[in-house]
Formats: sequence, structure tokens, C-alpha cells
Amino acid sequence: TFITFEGPDGAGKTTILSMVAEQLPMAMVTREPGGIDIAEQIRRVILSKENTAMDPRTEALLYAAARRQHLIEKVKPALEEGKVVLCDRFVDSSLAYQGYARGLGIDEVWSINQFAIEKMMPDLTIYFDIEPEAGLERINKNKGREVNRLDLENLEFHQKVREGYHILLDRSPGRIIKLDASGTIEDIFQQTLDIIKSKLTE
Ligand code: C5P
Ligand code: MG
Repeated sequence: TFITFEGPDGAGKTTILSMVAEQLPMAMVTREPGGIDIAEQIRRVILSKENTAMDPRTEALLYAAARRQHLIEKVKPALEEGKVVLCDRFVDSSLAYQGYARGLGIDEVWSINQFAIEKMMPDLTIYFDIEPEAGLERINKNKGREVNRLDLENLEFHQKVREGYHILLDRSPGRIIKLDASGTIEDIFQQTLDIIKSKLTE
């Protein structure tokens, strides 16, 4: 079972994912971009503060390339063994960030990603919904968080990311479940665990 965590920056995805992982020791936890060596290398290129010349289409292609390698090397084999895979971000991030917020077009970004993922889509996507202001406030409080090039984006960009996710939610109501991520971490954690457990006992 392939489950992805999506949402704007500061929604709590990574924190909740590690809490869920403790409750589901049989699950494999991973992240995008990254999760395996080649994809972590690509991640560094994408997120490096030095790469200010990065063209938006180059960026979209690099995310797709990292996704492809991670999927083939790690996710697909795990799914074939019958494992539960919990992934921090997947294709919806590219559609919301590069497709919508960056303005490349959701359909255009979807087409390069179709090439990359060959129909391997999540069985369930939990979308952590948060106001950009609240998300950014959480980021600023989280001192342990790695700083990256995207941290320079303004509030308007993050607002568009959220709008993008809402468009995706309307397009895929069956696969994507929206969760209000403005509450306490404990509360969001319980809701997340409930959603995952009910999916796993379907
Ligand atoms: O989720 P994580 O913090 O690992 O993401 C790293 C950075 O990459 C974040 O700032 C996020 O906004 C950005 N990102 C992006 N487009 C994606 C995925 C992540 O701009 N498709
Ligand atoms: Mg995170």
C-alpha cells in the first residue's frame, strides 16, 4: 500500500510521519526529493542556495528525475514485497509547486511526471491543509529544520501552493483526503493514524 503525505511547507508532514512510523513498525518511511543516494544528490542540486539560476522547467525535470529513481530503486520493490510505504511528498507536490504556483501548468508538469512514474500512483494521499501564515510560523520556530532555496519564496507563492493543492483535491477526491493541519500535533497525529489504519483494513 502506497501512502503519500502532501501539503504546504510547515504543515507538519515530516513530524507526523515520524510519529506514525513509530506506531507502524512494518511500514517503510521515505521522502521526496531524496530517499536514496542518487535522488538525495539531485535534491541537493535543486535546493542549493547557490543555484539561483535554476530555470523552472529544469527544476521540474529534476524533481521528476529524482522521483523516478526513488520509485524504481526503493518504492516499487517495497510495494512488490507487500510493504506499506509512507512517503513524505510525491507527484502532487510537483503539480502544486511547479505546475500551479510556479506557473508551468498542472497538465504540463503532469505529462513529464507520467513519463517518470508510469502509472504508479499512491493508493492514498493525505493532504495536510494549513494557512501559509501558520505554516511559515511553524517553520520559523523549528530551529532544527534545514534551510533551503525555497525558503526565500514569499507568502504569495505559498498561498498559490495551497490553491494548487485544492485544485488537485477537487480533481482526485477519491485518492486525496484533506486533513486540517492547523490544530495540535497530537491531534493531527491521531487523525492521520486513523485515516491510515482504516485504509490498511479496507
Ligand atoms: O518537504 P521538504 O521540506 O523536504 O521540501 C524541501 C523544499 O522543497 C521545501 O521548501 C518545498 O517547498 C520545496 N519543494 C518544491 N517543489 C516540490 C517539492 C518540494 O518547491 N515539488
Ligand atoms: Mg517536511
